[in-house]
Amino acid sequence: MNFGLFFAGADSDYSSSRYVILGIPFDLTQSFRPGSRFAPGRIREASWNLESYSFDYGVDISDCSVHDMGNLDVEYPHEILLRKIGERVSEIVEDGKFPVIIGGEHSITAGCVSKLKKVSVLILDAHFDMRNEFDGSRSNHACVTRRLMEMRDAGTVEEIVLAGVRSGTREEIENGDGLTVFTARDLSYGMDDLLSHLSSLKNIYISLDMDCFDPSVAPAVSTPEPGGLNFRNVMRILERVAGKSMGFDLVEVVPEYDSGNTCILSARIIRDFIAMREKFKG
Ligand code: MN
Ligand code: MN
Repeated sequence: MNFGLFFAGADSDYSSSRYVILGIPFDLTQSFRPGSRFAPGRIREASWNLESYSFDYGVDISDCSVHDMGNLDVEYPHEILLRKIGERVSEIVEDGKFPVIIGGEHSITAGCVSKLKKVSVLILDAHFDMRNEFDGSRSNHACVTRRLMEMRDAGTVEEIVLAGVRSGTREEIENGDGLTVFTARDLSYGMDDLLSHLSSLKNIYISLDMDCFDPSVAPAVSTPEPGGLNFRNVMRILERVAGKSMGFDLVEVVPEYDSGNTCILSARIIRDFIAMREKFKG
């Protein structure tokens, strides 16, 4: 564990905390642009350039009992790491706390969700991530939705909603039968269908692949894909689910390709997500 820099405003100790930030600096399968292992540290660093007070939601996250647990030790074979991630995340949830996970690449989400029960998963992503195998691995970051679909088939995951998608192979799309998909193009005509669908979900785990944003908004991601969402679109989607969510991850940021803005955006989303959850939870 690395107890160096912590997220701004996350000054609670574990036992009295309600939110727990955990970094997972893992990017083994990011083939095109690796480097998301640096994101947890850089996003924490960026958080200090923001106020701890969320202007949009009127909540100061230093009043939200947030603990920063540092980074998970990722020096394990991928499959074992995913199991350890699952154990850690379920421990946090069983302790009655809300996990806020900073990746790392998207494959970690399969670990995060693996030990949860009766959750629905909302994924914001440019990509289907429905490959069965990629680069010789079923745990590749391009396979994460597929692995979540297997959890749905096994009954631990209720429903998977994928929004913002605009890239996939014909095979991935055919495999996506049973996913609830709102493409980036759908959303460009209006978000009402998505927002009303989200109203019907409960106990939601949210996975934010930062490439859901248009590359003009979030350029420093592993696999940028034009035609994406803007900041206010994403915040409106998160507002609809934050109050009934039970976990959150933010993945795929590669600081090396950043002028600093993608890390600031990520820190802003983490701060405002906690603030909006406080504001909207029942
Ligand atoms: Mn992804
Ligand atoms: Mn993606």
